[in-house]
Amino acid sequence: MKHWLRAFLTRTPAGRDAIPEALWQGTLSRFPFLSQRGAAELAQLRQLTREFLRQKEFHGTDGLTITDAMAVAIASQACLPILKLGPTTQALRWYDDFVGIVVHPGEVLAHRSETDHIGVVHDYQERLTGEAMAGGPVTLSWHDVWQSGTSAAQGYNVVIHEFIHKIDMRDGVADGCPPLPPNFMGAATPKAARQSWLEQMKIEFVRFGDQVVMEQRFSGEPTWLDPYGAESIDEFFAVSCEAYFVNRPDFSREFPSLIVLYDAFFSAPSPSD
Ligand SMILES: [Zn+2]
Repeated sequence: MKHWLRAFLTRTPAGRDAIPEALWQGTLSRFPFLSQRGAAELAQLRQLTREFLRQKEFHGTDGLTITDAMAVAIASQACLPILKLGPTTQALRWYDDFVGIVVHPGEVLAHRSETDHIGVVHDYQERLTGEAMAGGPVTLSWHDVWQSGTSAAQGYNVVIHEFIHKIDMRDGVADGCPPLPPNFMGAATPKAARQSWLEQMKIEFVRFGDQVVMEQRFSGEPTWLDPYGAESIDEFFAVSCEAYFVNRPDFSREFPSLIVLYDAFFSAPSPSD
């Protein structure tokens, strides 16, 4: 399914291929949270997006045809979390455990089966807007991707959510803590860095969980952030990062301590920069 990519990357001489200007500008205006940054960062985002498109394969389901605009919309949003994680090749290593991106027209009903503590198996269906599997493909609902320019007001973004799971799972476990650089935030050892990250995350996760309980059980004020973030700490990491990347002003008001933590990780200058 790479025909769309060849279609525009082969229009220019080898080595000078690029995302066409009109396509890029159309993407930036559809998703304003991408364009709210300086010229140098935008140029890096465009470069990352191009390389991402070279490395990944898109598959539409249920008759959905992946157009250039769809591929660039997904790729550019997927590259936002890794924008400052080093030069292009190094940054894209965060996503090198998979190739396929499966795009459904809308939400998908997934069949689940769980065994409870007394051994009873419960079968149920779950509505999914996206899914990321360790070492496997990322699945996305195109309806949600396309609406992400406006849903940024609520801090919602399905592409960033799933790709944050990928970053979280890079060390083999989805636990709300990505692999951290050595001496992260002045930590003496990698273990101490990880401990400190998880402690800060847990404080905010518990606080947010309490707010969600207040809302759902006691008709409290609705949370600005998607209550799905109260499911588990890895979902809290993914949900809060959506807001961090698409609506920094509201996110910094709601989670001032996480802004400091996330800035330290996602804006860390690479040693090889
Ligand atoms: Zn999730």
